[in-house]
Amino acid sequence: MKDMYDVLVIGAGPAGSIAAKTAAEKGLDVLLIEKRQEIGDPVRCAEGVNKEYLKRHVEIDDSWICADLKGSRIYSPNGTKIEMAQEISGGEVGYVLERKIFDRALAGNAAKAGAEVRVKTRATGLIIEDDFVKGARLMHLGKEFEVRAKIVIGADGVESKVGRWAGIDTSLKPIDIETCAQYLIAGVDVDQEYCEFYIGSKLAPGGYIWIFPKGEGKANVGVGLLGNKTGKFKPRPIDYLNSFMEKKFPNASIVEMVFGGVPVSGNIEKTSTNGLMLVGDAARQSDPITGGGILNAMDAGKLAGVAAYEAISVGDVSFEKLEEVYEKRWRETTGHDIDMSLIVKNCFINLQDEDLDALASSLKEVRFERMRLFDLLQALFKANKKLLWDLRILF
Ligand code: FAD
Repeated sequence: MKDMYDVLVIGAGPAGSIAAKTAAEKGLDVLLIEKRQEIGDPVRCAEGVNKEYLKRHVEIDDSWICADLKGSRIYSPNGTKIEMAQEISGGEVGYVLERKIFDRALAGNAAKAGAEVRVKTRATGLIIEDDFVKGARLMHLGKEFEVRAKIVIGADGVESKVGRWAGIDTSLKPIDIETCAQYLIAGVDVDQEYCEFYIGSKLAPGGYIWIFPKGEGKANVGVGLLGNKTGKFKPRPIDYLNSFMEKKFPNASIVEMVFGGVPVSGNIEKTSTNGLMLVGDAARQSDPITGGGILNAMDAGKLAGVAAYEAISVGDVSFEKLEEVYEKRWRETTGHDIDMSLIVKNCFINLQDEDLDALASSLKEVRFERMRLFDLLQALFKANKKLLWDLRILF
């Protein structure tokens, strides 16, 4: 490891690895650090991604695909089923990934592009001089040292400290976090071609339960609740998960447990400052409805890698420049989708179980021609004039 690079990327999740790869491909000298000793492990994810969208970023490799989905089913509180299937729509659905392999492959791609990758290397603070971020203090095997860089990219996930160290407000209120618990279960008879979602106040207040197949009789079964629906005197996500498991998979073996949070706050005010950009969960770029953040993180990582190149090329890494080459670009794309999702989320969290049942029932006969969340929402609005009126801003 040297003590000076063009770009220092903190965190080797999807956001950081894509940022490092993109910047290295542009010819920049890049260091990508990861505090854990194994990239991608432990997993804190249900590992579902949209297929078409993923292909924009990376060539698909069978070694990190656990399930190739053909459709999804959503169950309303009274059990009404909405089914979206590939054979009707002709569109592609999604994959369930093996993130332990996927994240490592992305970091490997960054290394292939020329980035230096270092695990068990934790950022412990930033070097800030004359109001510019100039690098970071790192810790590796008990030794602390400084690494300087023209640009630092903070890709340190939901518990990000990098933004805070740089004076960017990334704080989240309980209502802005989906708190999750998940089991990887084995020895179960799960449809390996469908993912399933269960909604309702008794199952998962302000959130949902998911079953994502992982191949060979395995599945990720998890629950996400809005942070304000759980807490000291309220049931925890794991309590909701256990009661679902008792009913649905009483004999399943649990081979892995996952706990974690997903930001569902919508866009924050600022994701860059002099010499620094935040990407992925660190920049709160996950989807407010689904909590999905892998693809948004990859989008932002790519934009930040390009932005680093453009800013460094002209010798201007000021906030104004980064706002022009990063902040504005992601807000026009991912940021726009996040804004739309937040409006829908804020409407949905106020619906009662009866409303959700009525909505599901209105969609029973709909044959979906495409299978994106947006198409589901569009069908919902068409069938429900009141909802259409409440959310007219989206159309
Ligand atoms: P991360 O993947 O969190 O990577 C950040 C990395 O930074 C980590 O490896 C961390 O160890 C490292 N790091 C942190 N601090 C430091 C430091 N100081 N120094 C060095 N390294 C550091 N999204 C989906 O799209 N689909 C899903 O099905 C899905 N399911 C989910 C289920 C659960 C239970 C949870 C919790 C999340 C889920 N998500 C899902 C969200 C998804 O996991 C994240 O949005 C995604 O991982 C964000 O990528 P990232 O690169 O921004 O952050």
